[in-house]
Amino acid sequence: MKAYIRDIVNGTWSLLVGMAITIRYFFGPVVTLQYPHQTVPMKPRFRGHIDLVLDERKGTNKCIVCNACMKTCPSGCITLEGEKREGVKQKVLTYYQLDFTKCSLCGLCVEVCPTAALDFSKDYNLVGSQESEFVFDLLKRLEERKQ
Ligand code: SF4
Ligand code: SF4
Repeated sequence: MKAYIRDIVNGTWSLLVGMAITIRYFFGPVVTLQYPHQTVPMKPRFRGHIDLVLDERKGTNKCIVCNACMKTCPSGCITLEGEKREGVKQKVLTYYQLDFTKCSLCGLCVEVCPTAALDFSKDYNLVGSQESEFVFDLLKRLEERKQ
């Protein structure tokens, strides 16, 4: 009989302690997000895939088509093209493709760029069912960001 009563007291006490913890957290600050409807802003040093930087002054990219990033990339992720235009001193970037399926995020392309035209994006929740979904047209992405 004694053991029976002790079990009831212990059980009730354990229930009360559990409820107290639940109530405390229920009224405390919210520390979770309703992912994927809400996402956490990434830290400045976070490295997502590379992206072209927008030159706010000119409203375009900063690339001078020197090809240094393409030549430096150890994984052959970058393909780019540019053209010479009438009245423009430097070549104009016409195509910039990143094959993110091969990228190791080493950052060499960002480091070698003489005009700081590349930076790491803050994209951390990329999903897809095909490799082709991770081959990005970075010029197109830049245009979309401007809108
Ligand atoms: S981060 Fe490294 S592997 Fe990725 S594209 Fe740049 S140079 Fe290539
Ligand atoms: S290194 Fe910079 S400037 Fe040169 S092609 Fe790459 S992105 Fe453009």
